[in-house]
Amino acid sequence: MIKAAEISVRSVLSKTGLPADYVINPYVGCEHACVYCYACFMKRFSGHTEPWGTFVDVKINAADILPAKPVRYENRSIYFSSVTDAYQPLEKTYELTRKILQKLIPFQPRISIQTKSSLILRDLDLLRQFSSCEIGITIVTTDEKLRREIEPHASPIRERILALRRIHDAGVPTHVFIGPILPYLTGWKQIITSTKDCVDHYMVDRLNTGGVIWSNVRRWLRNCHPDLLSQYDRIYTSGESYWRKVSNSIREFSASEGIDSRIFF
Ligand code: SF4
Repeated sequence: MIKAAEISVRSVLSKTGLPADYVINPYVGCEHACVYCYACFMKRFSGHTEPWGTFVDVKINAADILPAKPVRYENRSIYFSSVTDAYQPLEKTYELTRKILQKLIPFQPRISIQTKSSLILRDLDLLRQFSSCEIGITIVTTDEKLRREIEPHASPIRERILALRRIHDAGVPTHVFIGPILPYLTGWKQIITSTKDCVDHYMVDRLNTGGVIWSNVRRWLRNCHPDLLSQYDRIYTSGESYWRKVSNSIREFSASEGIDSRIFF
């Protein structure tokens, strides 16, 4: 059960070091509760002590406080979202992301959205109104049983692929983020072959093991895949050759299929 609280904030458009000028996080926390979540450090900054994935603060005034000066958006790019998913289930009720997009249309910043939710289809009418907009859907596995283990409250994979197809058919550029690659579990080839007809490019990354992420992933492995624990320990302590092999295989496969894959390791 998710604990949601409405909060008022003083700003929602933040400068970022990501490959975008600004980032917008309409929520604090994320219902998707991915086991490998890199954003759980946000608990420290928001005063939450509950487990990550069980609380969400809803920035109820987010759309109202967006700067209304066109100059703030001229030739600027905005990324949704760096430490939450802008289309997590609560968005269905609150429509914060929708309201923010509505306000941004007249200013025409470049928009980039990364999500694990097919709820994004609700806003396709708005996304089409930006002259520069790219939608990324994250897919770590095509195995629904594994998906439920690692991303319990995100959309089923089939729904994500259908969403990609509809977004692509609507003329909006798409990419798939395959990340983090989970050794021996992520079937990256299958992800590519089942989406390549509706994806412009792929981005691929491995697990960030900083902070509590590594212990969270190890806990999940201990519970669900104990046979893989020692292999993960080896790969994440001295497994550079493993990653070189994976990276080379993805490059070779992508080249043979004429696919644009951007690998970040
Ligand atoms: S969707 Fe992103 S922010 Fe949300 S729990 Fe998963 S990894 Fe974290």
